[in-house]
Amino acid sequence: MSTKLAVPVSAKTIKTAKQQIEAANQVGADIIELRVDYLENLDITAVKNLIAAVKNSGNSSVLVTCRDDREGGTGHHSIDLRMNVFAEAVQSGVDFIDLEFQNYKQQNIRRKIKPLLDSNPKTRLILSAHDFERKFQNISDLYTETKNCEPDAVPKLVYTANHINDCFEVFDLLHNSKDDVITFCMGEAGLISRVLAVKLGGFLTFASLNIKSATAPGQLTATELKELYRFDSINDKIELFGVIGSPVAHSASPAVFNTCFEKEKMNRLYLPLLVEDGQREFDIFLNNILKRTWLNFKGFSVTIPHKHNALDYAKNRGGFVEPLAERIGAANTIVINENGKINLYNTDCAGAMEAITENMKIERKDLRNVPVAVVGAGGVARAVVVGLTDVGAGVKIYNRTVQKAERLAKEFDCECAGLDDLPNLNAKLLINCTSLGMYPDIKCTPVLKEYLSSDMVVFDTVYNPAQTLLLKEAKKIGAKTIDGLSMFVNQAAAQFKLFTNKVPDRALMRKVVSQKLSQP
Ligand code: NAP
Repeated sequence: MSTKLAVPVSAKTIKTAKQQIEAANQVGADIIELRVDYLENLDITAVKNLIAAVKNSGNSSVLVTCRDDREGGTGHHSIDLRMNVFAEAVQSGVDFIDLEFQNYKQQNIRRKIKPLLDSNPKTRLILSAHDFERKFQNISDLYTETKNCEPDAVPKLVYTANHINDCFEVFDLLHNSKDDVITFCMGEAGLISRVLAVKLGGFLTFASLNIKSATAPGQLTATELKELYRFDSINDKIELFGVIGSPVAHSASPAVFNTCFEKEKMNRLYLPLLVEDGQREFDIFLNNILKRTWLNFKGFSVTIPHKHNALDYAKNRGGFVEPLAERIGAANTIVINENGKINLYNTDCAGAMEAITENMKIERKDLRNVPVAVVGAGGVARAVVVGLTDVGAGVKIYNRTVQKAERLAKEFDCECAGLDDLPNLNAKLLINCTSLGMYPDIKCTPVLKEYLSSDMVVFDTVYNPAQTLLLKEAKKIGAKTIDGLSMFVNQAAAQFKLFTNKVPDRALMRKVVSQKLSQP
């Protein structure tokens, strides 16, 4: 049976609750959860009223929850009132009630609720347990305990993931349980569990109407779940991809890849994968993925701070590393092949080189002996310097930390200087590979306008915003400009080809990134 979309209604007043019920129907909720503990004037009449409102408004099932404050509820409602609410809900024939397992274990509560449920078989009990701080000591024991206590109930086991690696116990439970179960992780690190619950056959997943009406940390909105994460297309066979990085919350890649998967009608899904900094964190994450082949992960984009960690991981585990990635010292793409082995690539270099050649309407060989100024000496600068020196361009590297520029220049046999040498700039092509000018510091520029000239081509790898101050000033004096979106789209298109063996619609990719960047 497919996973249901449950949308909570969490309003202080009946009027607002009714508006939320309407909105929940509009976003296609399968289940409307009445979080009646949010009501300021909670009484039985209000509960009856809202149950009737859901039943009369559409085809959604009704779930009534009156959460205990100790498990994330609001309102300090007495236990007697809460039990009366549940009794009313069952007698009204709602589809589900959600009661805390800790409370249900108490004889007096159980004695009141169980006979009601026995005589109203339409209503199913959800027995829930929450930990807002950390993962449960042993989720599978907790699952067994709830099933032993009430075999017909649906266990709902939810905890906060402090790291993405905390999610894997939830995945194992979903994978191994034959009966209905609701389980996922709260918090940003738990986001993927709310989506993968759908792939792994969870009984339901929650999504809010909007960020304000979310009832738990990290809850996605129903629109995000449906439009960005392809809720209606997710099935148990779907192949998974994602971007590994920290931070990843604002990455444009999920929107770009999922839009292309949707357009090509591919059974694939792309997720943001927040893996905290550190080789150890990265290794644990990838080990967790690779040993669970049933998750069906097939590839990853890799971004800051893991591009080098990916390389070390592959080298230590006999993975294939493309020679270009080895020379750059960073990989931004991982492909998991049929045998579960990993192959690493770097598409940043090709992405930058194509941005240059396409926009300048030249071939790579035409860059031979062209004087190029590369500003920056970090990861992107390395990829750019490798691409340029391979075709024999005359590269000079400028960097704030001169020692880093010197190391890079020595490795690839080019010139270097500190940023204080920029007044003597003498280049046909200038490439910004620093983060200067990137949102939110959009008033910054790596090269003052006085040092630019109209016969220069100015390429900014920063793509948020697409029109940086550097590019605006270059344009003003008549220089040709290349924006970072071209590089972003090219490197993403090359990844798409590595992931799927198909060429994506690059114009669509560019449109999606531009739209994503224009959102607040
Ligand atoms: P990185 O390895 O951290 O390198 C950052 C570079 O920026 C270093 O050279 C650093 O100089 C310099 N820098 C940082 N803050 C500075 C400041 N206040 N003043 C002067 N220099 C400063 O980062 P990266 O991976 O190379 O990424 C750099 C930028 O490339 C990103 O911010 C992003 O906008 C862009 N990018 C674009 C794409 C694309 O597809 N278009 C892809 C990836 C990245 P020091 O060595 O002195 O610290």
